[in-house]
Order: sequence, then C-alpha cells, then structure tokens
Amino acid sequence: MDIEDDEILQSDFQDENRPSSGLSSVSGGSSSIGDEDYKPENMASRMPPPQIYVERTLAIIKPDAMDKANEIEDIILRNGFTVIQKRKVHLSPEQASDFYVEHYGKMFFPSLVAYMSSAPIGVFVLAKEKAIKAWRELIGPTNPFKARETHPGCLRDTYGKDQTRNAVHGSESFLSAEREIRFMFHDSIVEPIATEQAVKIYLSKEVNPTLLQGLTELCKTKPGDPVIWLADWLVDHNPNKPNIGGPVVTETE
Ligand code: GDP
Ligand code: MG
Repeated sequence: MDIEDDEILQSDFQDENRPSSGLSSVSGGSSSIGDEDYKPENMASRMPPPQIYVERTLAIIKPDAMDKANEIEDIILRNGFTVIQKRKVHLSPEQASDFYVEHYGKMFFPSLVAYMSSAPIGVFVLAKEKAIKAWRELIGPTNPFKARETHPGCLRDTYGKDQTRNAVHGSESFLSAEREIRFMFHDSIVEPIATEQAVKIYLSKEVNPTLLQGLTELCKTKPGDPVIWLADWLVDHNPNKPNIGGPVVTETE
C-alpha cells in the first residue's frame, strides 16, 4: 500500500488488562460458595475490572471528495466522532478489489475498483457510541441522487457526484468494520462493542459514590462557583489519590 502523509493518532482506549474472555470454566471447580461470598465487598473483589469499549467504524473520503477532506473532517468532529487513526492512502487496483471483494461479479465492480484506485483516499477510524450506525446515517444512501431526495443534507447529498463517485464510505456492520479497519490499519486492535452493562458497573463502582458525596457537600455549602468548588472537592477527596503520608515517626533522644 502506497501511503502518503501517514498520520497515525494512537488510541488511548487500549486496555492491556482486558480479560481475553468474559467466560470462565465452571467444570471441575472445587470451591463452594458460602454466605461470605455474597457480602458486597467480597462480590466487588471478584468482579472483573470495569471496562468501557467505544464502537469504531471505518470511514473513507473517496477520490472525488478529497478536495473537500478538511471540510468533511470538520463535519466528522462536529458530529461527535473521535478520530482514532487516519491516513492518506493510494490503493492499487488489486487492493481496491480486495477491499470491495463482496461486490465481485457485480456490474459496477470494475468501475468501482478503477475509481477507488484512481487517486489517493482519506481513511479514518472513527469512534463514538454506536459509531457504525451513526456514520452510515451521516453519509446517507449509496446513490447521491436518491440521497438528495430522501436524506437532504447528508454527506452523499452534499458531496456525491454520481452512483460510483459518492464521496464517502462507511462500514455496514460490526464485522465489516472490524475487517475494514484491519485492512487499512494492520496494527489495529479492534475491541468488542461497548456494553451498556459494563459502563453502568464502571460508573456505579468507580465514580458515582464519590460524585454523590461531593454533590451532597456542594448543596450544603452552596459556593459562588459550584463547578470549580466541586472540581477542587473531587481532587481533595479522590479515592484513588496516592497515599503519600507514611507513619509518623517521632524522634526520641
Ligand atoms: P455503500 O455501502 O453505501 O458504499 O454501498 P455498497 O456497499 O452497495 O457499494 C459499494 C460502492 O460501490 C458504493 O459506495 C458505490 O461507490 C458503488 N456502487 C454501489 N452500487 C452501485 C451501482 O448500482 N452503480 C454504480 N455505478 N456504483 C455502485
Ligand atoms: Mg457497502
């Protein structure tokens, strides 16, 4: 792959402590569960570490829209997507065929491959809650003429020129997003979709207790600038604050 202006913004979402599977073996276990195990503190210590996954999708700015790349990237950001990785790539015809292999044999396949390999494209890994669906909604229907009628203002309406040169690409499903991100960014780790439950557990365990306490104190105190007051209070009462106070040693003569 001929890569120009290669620019990679590494993700900070990777969690090396993530367990490889949420499933654990139940066969052959010798441990029995007693009343002690149901105590909240013991339950908490047995729970897996909280995890937040953010869904990712692959977006492409196709050759016909590359002159509007900055404008489109601006729209991407304004719609709440985070750009995890991006690069400008010039695909060979073989690479374009591989990327669109699901369309092999269709009438438009040769023109699609010729077009996608005709000039550089902008490739982005975007992250957001329900990113796959959100990006597909923003780009609109495949055919820009149809998009103009049914989804005015979508990206393919605004920037698309015809059925082949429809400005942008978006993954259609989680599986295609995973394949396409790996195709364009070989070093990518594509994580499972965010689970609402994991987010709830994380917030209720790690954030809400301290936040509630802080908000209660805030309401009692009613300071002039509540946000700054709360920020200071949270820093002072952060349960994860390193404990730098050691035992007090009194010197004796
Ligand atoms: P997408 O997921 O909305 O991009 O649409 P598809 O996966 O069905 O098709 C992939 C790409 O092939 C489209 O984005 C268009 O560039 C092109 N394409 C799809 N259908 C047609 C068609 O009927 N005629 C032509 N000329 N191009 C098409
Ligand atoms: Mg498609």
